[in-house]
Amino acid sequence: MPKTQPQLFTIATLGSHSALQILKGAKDEGFHTLAVVTPQNERLYSSFAFVDEVEVIPEYSHFPKLEPKLAGRKIILVPHGSFVAYLSLREHKAMTTPYFGNKAVLDLEADRMKQRDWLLRAGLKMPRQFTQASDIDRPVIVKLYGALGGKGYLFVKNADDFSTRAAKLKQQYIMQEYIIGVPVYIHYFYSPLTGKLEIMSMDRRYESNVDSLGRIPSADQEGWDLQPSYVVIGNQPISLRESLLAEAFHMGEAVVRVSRELCPERGLFGAFCLETIVTPEAEFFLMEISARIVAGTNLFIDGSPYSYLNYDEPMSTGRRIAREIKNALLSNSLEMVLDQSSKLPEFYLADLESPGVAISGPGVPAN
Ligand code: ATP
Repeated sequence: MPKTQPQLFTIATLGSHSALQILKGAKDEGFHTLAVVTPQNERLYSSFAFVDEVEVIPEYSHFPKLEPKLAGRKIILVPHGSFVAYLSLREHKAMTTPYFGNKAVLDLEADRMKQRDWLLRAGLKMPRQFTQASDIDRPVIVKLYGALGGKGYLFVKNADDFSTRAAKLKQQYIMQEYIIGVPVYIHYFYSPLTGKLEIMSMDRRYESNVDSLGRIPSADQEGWDLQPSYVVIGNQPISLRESLLAEAFHMGEAVVRVSRELCPERGLFGAFCLETIVTPEAEFFLMEISARIVAGTNLFIDGSPYSYLNYDEPMSTGRRIAREIKNALLSNSLEMVLDQSSKLPEFYLADLESPGVAISGPGVPAN
């Protein structure tokens, strides 16, 4: 596209999940911001001063159709949970808009067996998995595939309980040892530019009704057909006992290291989350990994106690992503933070020779 002045680099994302945090962080780092929204979200996202532009599409799943329109601009897409929820893995990978992160990791994450292998190879403890109901020798949680936010999960006491309540389930599911402990979700950021890992923040989820059962004395629960459910209602901030912090850090490092063996091109980088349960013996059991920014980080738009240790300014995970993109631009290493499917137009590359003029904001010459 011919131009006399470099355009500002734009950070774009779908208007849901952690978009507000991502776009606020992008604005704070001097980027132009674009929210791609559905009609019912347009007024909400437009109401924020840090959202420079909104683009309306009928449904989030229509995003790939918007790509040709974005192709003439200096857009960098920051993905979050809604990208995976609304776009198939294939569509997701076929997109060529410059994309923060490594899409190859999605294959490891999306396949439960590959994910388990990844986490076990990293030396992390995982709940035992049962393939046959007859093997169940302890309480298990029956987890339905594709059940977002724990909906429809069943707590099953033993093999008999399984055959009465779960055997007729039509959906695919896995059976996992039930770990009693505190669910702690640890939010990390790994910089491919510096090779440094940071703990950004942590949360615990509040789930209905399992987190409320303790409000009814167990004697009064007797004879009442009460089943725990695991529907996520919200997130609460948590700070970890400091004596557990080193292990949390090592777990993050191990996951990044093994991801490089499994995806030799580059492995996992950017934001990710380890979803753990911590037992009374202070052991971490891994439930899952999310290889991108998670919604629990929304608690920390203004930074967390952990991010404050690394930055003397509010540093959300969203802003940390924008900071990484900015650092990559300023050191002429943009490709290091983008997926390899990212198609960088020629004018884009030309501007990279003087990237400072294409961002405004603190520490960078204004456009
Ligand atoms: P999301 O995709 O939003 O992370 P999900 O559908 O993947 O949610 P999980 O994170 O796997 O669901 O689990 C939801 C909840 O179920 C957890 O927060 C936890 O309370 C409970 N849970 C999951 N696995 C176990 C386990 N092995 N032992 C005890 N509780 C568990």
